[in-house]
Amino acid sequence: MARRLEAGASIVLATHNAGKLREFAVLLAPYGLSVVSAGDLGLPEPDETADDFVGNAVIKAQAAAMAAGRPALADDSGFSLAALGGAPGIYSARWAGPGKDFGAAMARVNSEMGEAVDRRAWFTAALCLAWPDGETASFLGRAEGQAIWPPRGTHGFGYDPMFLPLGGAQSYGEMDPALKHATSHRAMAWAQITAACFPPHRAI
Ligand code: IMP
Repeated sequence: MARRLEAGASIVLATHNAGKLREFAVLLAPYGLSVVSAGDLGLPEPDETADDFVGNAVIKAQAAAMAAGRPALADDSGFSLAALGGAPGIYSARWAGPGKDFGAAMARVNSEMGEAVDRRAWFTAALCLAWPDGETASFLGRAEGQAIWPPRGTHGFGYDPMFLPLGGAQSYGEMDPALKHATSHRAMAWAQITAACFPPHRAI
């Protein structure tokens, strides 16, 4: 059984991204934890050298937990195409380049897929909670669907407009954000980590 955080515990969010910190602050609010980011603590960003999502989440969480001396939470996520052997995968953010141009990243995905018959696509999210002594607990969520072209919708971020979830009629870019947040790869990983490792949920 995974080790559980105590109510009132202080944790580090292993990110230097202010947007991620804001998103996680909302998710973490009901759990009575005090949260600070690795960026706010001035911790160095480790190189993401693993070859899968869980490996990179573990690297980020362990580095922050050991440097800060308290439990740390990290995530890693990405978009994968069956026809591209799982690419861009852990390189999803990098395909958008330094200008974070996801229009260009989606166009690259589409051009590399060409006329491939297999349009299966999926989003993956890994979450890792690491303790200062090195212990970790990791969880994986996956949302299955297919790639569509041209992209549809203006909600969300990243590759959302070119992803049609299985059984759905709307792309992630068209879908009500609340519905995406309740059913996505990140929601699946979040449900697992909170059930296994978080203090009891406090109604707010
Ligand atoms: P990282 O987890 O911050 O390293 O970056 C993950 C990258 O994967 C993002 O920059 C997006 O390109 C992509 N990605 C992950 N989750 C989603 C999602 O829910 N919608 C769209 N793109 C996503």
